[in-house]
Amino acid sequence: MARSTRSLDWGFPRWRGYGSSREAAKVRLCDRHGCEEPGNCPAPKAPNSPERWYFCQRHAAEYNAKWDYFEGLDKAEAEARAAGEQRTNAGYAQSAHYGWASSGDGSRSADEMRALELFGLEADADFDTVKKAWRARAKEVHPDVRPGDEAAAKAFQAYSLAYEVLRAAEERREWRG
Ligand SMILES: [Zn+2]
Repeated sequence: MARSTRSLDWGFPRWRGYGSSREAAKVRLCDRHGCEEPGNCPAPKAPNSPERWYFCQRHAAEYNAKWDYFEGLDKAEAEARAAGEQRTNAGYAQSAHYGWASSGDGSRSADEMRALELFGLEADADFDTVKKAWRARAKEVHPDVRPGDEAAAKAFQAYSLAYEVLRAAEERREWRG
């Protein structure tokens, strides 16, 4: 009997006979690292992506609950930060560092107002609302979702800059207490 079952543990996805019976069907294991349950709940890896994770019921529920924090949008947020750090002449640049520094009363700078307007939000929108609006819009125009779509790419860039302005403003407010 030369065939080793060990090799089945290697690579990705992981397949393995489940149960002790020789006749037991090969079952795909949950994609969650370290989980040994059968992965029989498919979940899309990204919005509109044909690629799927296969999770056990528990981890599928966990994944779905954390949808917004998973890959695609974490990436979008990282890109927003990168865009924010790189921008030099986007008009938002100054405000990120100086724009609202003089307004000690918590009112919004002109650039914050522009950014809020882009998201269709009011001046008193809290940061959670901003975050939700940004995520909803970024999801629609993200380059991964709309590859090769230049208008979508521009919109994504604009949303990213606007979000960065509002995020940085929020951070400043927190520091100020
Ligand atoms: Zn699992």
